[in-house]
Amino acid sequence: MTVTELVSYEDALAAYDPVMGLEVHVELGTKTKMFCGCATTLGAEPNSQTCPTCLGLPGSLPVVNATGVESAIKIGLALNCEIAEWCRFARKNYFYPDMPKNFQTSQYDEPIAYNGYLDVDVDGEVFRVEIERAHMEEDTGKSTHVGGATGRIHGASHSLLDYNRAGIPLIEIVTKPIVGAGDKAPEVAKAYVTELRELIKSLGVSEARMEMGQMRCDVNLSLRPQGADKFGTRSETKNVNSLRSVERAVRFEIQRHAAVLGAGGTIIQETRHFHEEDGSTTSGRVKEEAEDYRYFPEPDLVPVAPSRAWVEELRGGLPELPRVRRNRLREEWGLSRHEMQSVLNAGAIDLITATIDEGAPADQARKWWMGELARRANEDGVELAALPITPAQVARVCALVKEGSLNDKLARQTIEGVLAGEGGPDEVVTKRGLKVVSDEGALGTAVDEAIAANAAIADKIRGGKVAAAGALVGAVMKATRGQADAARVRELILEKLGVEG
Ligand code: ADP
Ligand code: MG
Ligand code: ZN
Repeated sequence: MTVTELVSYEDALAAYDPVMGLEVHVELGTKTKMFCGCATTLGAEPNSQTCPTCLGLPGSLPVVNATGVESAIKIGLALNCEIAEWCRFARKNYFYPDMPKNFQTSQYDEPIAYNGYLDVDVDGEVFRVEIERAHMEEDTGKSTHVGGATGRIHGASHSLLDYNRAGIPLIEIVTKPIVGAGDKAPEVAKAYVTELRELIKSLGVSEARMEMGQMRCDVNLSLRPQGADKFGTRSETKNVNSLRSVERAVRFEIQRHAAVLGAGGTIIQETRHFHEEDGSTTSGRVKEEAEDYRYFPEPDLVPVAPSRAWVEELRGGLPELPRVRRNRLREEWGLSRHEMQSVLNAGAIDLITATIDEGAPADQARKWWMGELARRANEDGVELAALPITPAQVARVCALVKEGSLNDKLARQTIEGVLAGEGGPDEVVTKRGLKVVSDEGALGTAVDEAIAANAAIADKIRGGKVAAAGALVGAVMKATRGQADAARVRELILEKLGVEG
């Protein structure tokens, strides 16, 4: 491995214009595989979900999974694509041990969906990413290389093969060359994959969890001199598996390409591996051309010809798409674009919505999830949704505040108790004795005591310096260990001292 001297990002962008192409594979969440009836349960005993078809045994015949086609059409429609009236599967021929048929059933020049776009928000501006096509294919099996230090085939003593994944439906979504992103290219790439993931999830066709390999991205990148029309040669960084990595891979490749080109070298069209540890990429294999795969139409499958009526029915059944929904909620919640972006980044949209559905006011729901709870999630290094508190519980805390049983401080302690596993909000309030002191008698006594102990201040207030009441409120709050309603305490103090608030 040769260490590449990089050019600074700023210098790279001053000299060159980046062009990107993103290929995203999404594993569909269908119950059965794309061309056979085998189950697709994750984590099952290796090779327990296989049959003659997905093992490529002689004489077996594939049958298309209708739900797989339906999901592909939904994705295509959501991406503003045209849906083919008629299209075929094709064989992509190559040998790999985890692919028992020796070809991958895919689509080649006749994709189910083509010519679409996805709008993404970057820094408060809309960037339109054009979609070349979305096509159906199948996943391969999984190899595990044993005995080496790295888990790679190099140095391994033997390899294990699990064909459970072989034949699981995939949709590959390919963008047209993305131009015009300039120095925002890494952010555009990340925003696109983020938006696509949200879109896929909203359609209910896949959970699209990148950390589980349900969604993976190949990042193509080339540079051309500023002002040039012609694209440069691209590199293709394979299997980038997180949103952050997509951003880093684009950035690294921009700096690497610029270094090579700047030194008078040439970029070769090759695949590259991304390394999480330092965000770098290293050379994989020299890219094969399409003709190397000897694509030809799959003779064992009938063409897919979705009727227009079916397509329109699916279009009519599409849910409100994430970006539209986000813009609607932003208006309803009265947030700026920037604030909404933070909510999105925190993964809090659904949690806040659910909390509101449970009866909490929007500003309160957002306040807790984006404040106290986001801080906790951050501290614990977990996703917001993974915190051991439900939207219903947060809504209950909001209700207790609203009815005056809890003040802000006590509400925070209640939430702390719920997170610590002490039970629901009501249970925590009882167990920890967190109720606001609203017993007027007890509160009156505490106020009298505070006035007696701070005679000088009390005189000032009597003399008209109402602002001095804060000190007395503080004294009462201290005496009641924060369990009093501060506004009510202030009222009582002024009342007893005979001044108007
Ligand atoms: P392959 O099968 O070789 O990966 P695809 O057409 O499936 O080819 O995907 C290539 C991706 O790279 C597409 O998103 C395409 O828009 C993009 N692309 C093509 N040419 C360039 C280029 N010169 N620079 C950057 N991206 C490119
Ligand atoms: Mg590719
Ligand atoms: Zn099977």
